[in-house]
Amino acid sequence: MEYNKSLNQESTMELMTRAAQPQAMQEQSLQPQAPAEPEAVQAAPQPEPVQPVEPQSKGQYPSVAALVCPSCGQKNLRVIGTKGAMGKAVLGAGMFGAIGNMVADSRSKENFELLPVKYQCLSCKTKFDTLPLTATDDEVLDVPCTVVFHRLSSAVGMAVSQQVFLNGVKVGNVKNNSDLEFLTFTKNNTVFVTDQYGVAFPGTYTFVAQNGGREDINYKRKFL
Ligand SMILES: [Zn+2]
Repeated sequence: MEYNKSLNQESTMELMTRAAQPQAMQEQSLQPQAPAEPEAVQAAPQPEPVQPVEPQSKGQYPSVAALVCPSCGQKNLRVIGTKGAMGKAVLGAGMFGAIGNMVADSRSKENFELLPVKYQCLSCKTKFDTLPLTATDDEVLDVPCTVVFHRLSSAVGMAVSQQVFLNGVKVGNVKNNSDLEFLTFTKNNTVFVTDQYGVAFPGTYTFVAQNGGREDINYKRKFL
């Protein structure tokens, strides 16, 4: 009996508190709202800052056409590759807005990493790392040119996937006896190939792209 009583008491109290609650809430909501802050006196309309009219840029595209040795200024450069380059990888999209357009593998467009490439000057032997430069407007094509890289069948190292770079940017991997198609947006182009570790194979392929044109590159452990 005693036990039940105390239980009842408890539940009654609980009911009372519950019943009291809505009232309290009602009271609260009935309280007059704090007077709204008087609207800030509108300042006299400021004239819109005049935006300088920027010249229409065709976009930012990587280019190594103007790349020179930082020591002697010569253009006689050998590509060593991405292996051992000390610079940090950067996200390509931020630096070159259009980089995704030239990268063949659509999966890599989103998180595309742009790696510095190590070069050696053949004139003074200086080694240096650099990202591509940005193509000047007169270096940019009106219509991009299609590039087809043909990796011809070779028994040597046939299982190894090679990395193809256009103007210092990796555009894709190519397996033995297969093609890799990509676009170039610049007139002067340099292509080089590395192994899967980023060590460049000797030789570069340079070509001048035509608006809307097509360039076929044949490669069999070297440019043919
Ligand atoms: Zn040099």
